[in-house]
Amino acid sequence: MDINLYNTLTKRKDKFEPIDSKEVRIYSCGPTVYKNATIGNIRTNIFQDVLRRVLKYNGYKIKHAMNITDVGHLVSDGDDGEDKMLKSAREEKKTPLQIAEHYTKLFFEDLEELNIETPEIICKATEHINEMLEYVKKLMENGYAYETSTAIYFDISKLDKYPILSNIDIEKQKAGARVEVDEEKRNPSDFALWIKAPENHLMKWDSPWGLSYPGWHIECSAMGQKYLGDEFDIHTGGIDLVPTHHENEIAQSKGKCGKIPAKYWIHGEYLLIDGGKMSKSLGNAYLIKDIKEKGYDPISYKLFSYSCHYRNKLNFTWAGIESASKSLEKLRNSYQVNLKGNDELTSSDLEKLKEAEENFHKAINDDLNMPLAMSFVWEVAKYEKKNEQIAKLLEKFDTVLGIKIDKINSKEEQSEEIEQEIIELLEQRKIARENKDWAKSDEIRDIINQKGYIVKDTKEGQKLEKNK
Ligand code: AMP
Ligand code: ZN
Repeated sequence: MDINLYNTLTKRKDKFEPIDSKEVRIYSCGPTVYKNATIGNIRTNIFQDVLRRVLKYNGYKIKHAMNITDVGHLVSDGDDGEDKMLKSAREEKKTPLQIAEHYTKLFFEDLEELNIETPEIICKATEHINEMLEYVKKLMENGYAYETSTAIYFDISKLDKYPILSNIDIEKQKAGARVEVDEEKRNPSDFALWIKAPENHLMKWDSPWGLSYPGWHIECSAMGQKYLGDEFDIHTGGIDLVPTHHENEIAQSKGKCGKIPAKYWIHGEYLLIDGGKMSKSLGNAYLIKDIKEKGYDPISYKLFSYSCHYRNKLNFTWAGIESASKSLEKLRNSYQVNLKGNDELTSSDLEKLKEAEENFHKAINDDLNMPLAMSFVWEVAKYEKKNEQIAKLLEKFDTVLGIKIDKINSKEEQSEEIEQEIIELLEQRKIARENKDWAKSDEIRDIINQKGYIVKDTKEGQKLEKNK
């Protein structure tokens, strides 16, 4: 079955055709490890995890690289301001290395809590200084870079086209450029590849231009090329990276080897809070830890995120988490009930289940349409009959959902869950009786019996008792 993915580069859904049919190569921009990852950051990791899982569901092998930004990302997201790592180190009275180690560890703990697969390659910027330096030297050699008294800049006027990924208006930028940060810059959109370190700067390395440190964008170009080659399949990240980081990664790659590094550029939309922006820098951000502290399984957040397409904005609410948490319990309960179920499946049942399976596959292959895919998961989870084969199908779906569907709910949740299932059966029986379908009504009564309850018909309606 074809996979179609929305490509920011072509601005349409493109049929996915990997460069190498055996292995899909993906690069994802990872966290800047200066603070805790917010649930906003993690939304991007969830969408990237779904992408991996969908490709695997379709039989592909994955080689996925994700970087850890531990140097070079300035507070402005541009070329001015303090390095985010150094700012945190100063505020927390630690070394940049301690800051990076601490927050990297917490980030991977979050991924584990959410059952997000770890990419095959994790690469840290500070461990690839040489590769970045070589990259900048090559850009210099190729005539795409120039030196000023403060930095080495990329000269965007040397490209045939800039921008190509985003719609930033560089003419407007020119008009609006009153005081340039560096007046020696040739074009307002030129960006720093390498920055000369002021005295007392904590992170700096030897280079042909003296003690200095890398700009933000060069790390991903250098590490992407090192691990995945000049051209790979997919590049991902949050939507905010399109006009800055990713536009400039493309520029760098074109300057070095004349190629756009990835065929498909896929971007996840933002998680909002109270309809506004959530970010580490604004200080209004929730963490996975906060969800856990309220007593929820963190995977509830993953399920919550499936209620919205990854290319739409999602507004975070605690009511949403509450409802996702209930859904998670129901799905896990359905799995357990089906595992033990021995209702016979007729050919018509099997056909219906096959259709749900196909619809699920079509939905995930249509630009990772998780809200639609979830509707088919529910169709199967709520199927009127219970059978081990249904549990197996739910397990198959879970290779994409990654919600640990086989995890057993706690005792309290279980009793509440069974009640819920019985309530649904009682509802179906009520409808059967209203339709005078006595055979169906008796059949449901027997199912309820098997589940440890006796149903009695009284003047007030059906009454339920525990079967002792
Ligand atoms: P950072 O740690 O700031 O480098 O960001 C890591 C990733 O999280 C990037 O891909 C960002 O685009 C993404 N991101 C940041 N804030 C949000 C948000 N509120 N919702 C979704 N993704 C986000
Ligand atoms: Zn990046």
